Amino acid sequence: MKILIVTPESLPYAKSGGLGDFAYSYGKALAKLGEDVSIILPLYKQIRTKHPEVLNGFFDQYDFRMGGRTQGCGVFHLYRDGVHFYFTAMDRFDRDQMYGYGDDKERFACFIMAVNTFLTRHNDYDVVHCNDWQTAVLPVLLNYNPKKIKTVLTIHNPAYQGWATRDDLMSYFNLQPGYYDSGYVRLGDSFNYLKTGIMSADKINTVSKTHAKELLNDHTGFGGIGAIIDWCRHYDFSGIVNGLDVDIWNPASDPHLVENYTYADYREKKAINKRAIFKSLGMDENFSGALFSAITRLSSQKGVDRIESLFPELAKRHAKMIIIGTGEMEGDVLYHALQHPEVYLVKRYDENLAHLLYAASDFFLMPSYFEPCGTSQMIAMRYGTLPIVSDVGGLNDTVFDISKGDIANGFTFYNWDKDGCLKAFHRAMDTYDSGRMDPLIKVGMAGDYSWDKSAKQYLALYHSIDWK
Ligand code: ADP
Repeated sequence: MKILIVTPESLPYAKSGGLGDFAYSYGKALAKLGEDVSIILPLYKQIRTKHPEVLNGFFDQYDFRMGGRTQGCGVFHLYRDGVHFYFTAMDRFDRDQMYGYGDDKERFACFIMAVNTFLTRHNDYDVVHCNDWQTAVLPVLLNYNPKKIKTVLTIHNPAYQGWATRDDLMSYFNLQPGYYDSGYVRLGDSFNYLKTGIMSADKINTVSKTHAKELLNDHTGFGGIGAIIDWCRHYDFSGIVNGLDVDIWNPASDPHLVENYTYADYREKKAINKRAIFKSLGMDENFSGALFSAITRLSSQKGVDRIESLFPELAKRHAKMIIIGTGEMEGDVLYHALQHPEVYLVKRYDENLAHLLYAASDFFLMPSYFEPCGTSQMIAMRYGTLPIVSDVGGLNDTVFDISKGDIANGFTFYNWDKDGCLKAFHRAMDTYDSGRMDPLIKVGMAGDYSWDKSAKQYLALYHSIDWK
């Protein structure tokens, strides 16, 4: 099967969160299963500057129409790890950041239209797999493609939807204004990219079973997107939990660690990594207590207020916390962190330091208010670091509380319990202080986080689409 994964980000070129992990690790897993896999993403400035080799592979060049305008696009190609990468080069993406601009909906409309034209010129794909709002209008356009290409939309985060106007239908996507009231594109008083994909892709899914249930049962959150799925696409909707790139995230071989380790020697080796990170951040390297960490977008979704509520508890329990994060709440976290010497905030995106922190920590905090899948909790467990999580979405599917006996690999709390995170923190510290961590670490480190099972589930999903 020839599959094109359309995504706003993919490792090893561009990543801001779990979607960047997903595209690359899933693409590689599919290729290993013998499928013909391509990934297409925008050529961001950071790719052009940090991976200039990409520019050696000129592949195609074309113009396309957006409303009354003509837009030019170059396409570069590179083959690595069994996957064909295609990069669409357009002025609008040649900026310092990947996202966060006032014209993002127009930028990603350009990307969608560029991929749409790419598919008319390279028309031999069986499945086009779109991801999140930045790509979600593509399925409706492909319904006009004479070769009936199967389409799948994966929702990695329903909170981001791409809100546009009725006029944008024509000026971005060449769709008639009358289409606004077709039932396919409008949500409330706006043209909504995500809804458009939900209504028009052959199959849709989200990235865990629990989050799929949560969406179907939540008719008011996320602008009512759950109600649309429940009413209109219930039987085409499923949950498939993400795997992890177990080659990259492997404590036995990770080049970013000071000492590599397995379950056999994790105690002494994690302690060495802990000293190293304390030293590199100018903290007390002889500190002997527990280390908590969070590596995250600092947004309300991630339960940043819950993490902050633990700051005053750290000194009481002889513990420290290191947070690596960026996002709209970074000022707020910095303000609170400055009042607690036990907390160190690294206010930047730092992939290398993140690897070391996963290895150095005793506990990883992920008290999200919602979490479609979550990648970080699985990385933490693989690195022998016990997660403390709310019981939502993919966290509920992958982390099992200490009270659960043989399968326990962390600490969970009820999302509705306002003191849940605090209580879980103290339960974790009690476990640490009484030396009862080992069985949980063993289960966590032995877990199968690979893509083997989930990649096959996606393939089955592709095959379940009726050929038209
Ligand atoms: P989301 O996709 O919602 O942001 P996930 O847990 O699925 O959350 O994925 C987050 C990924 O991004 C993880 O691989 C995590 O290590 C990484 N990450 C998040 N913030 C940072 C940061 N500031 N520096 C380095 N890596 C980060």
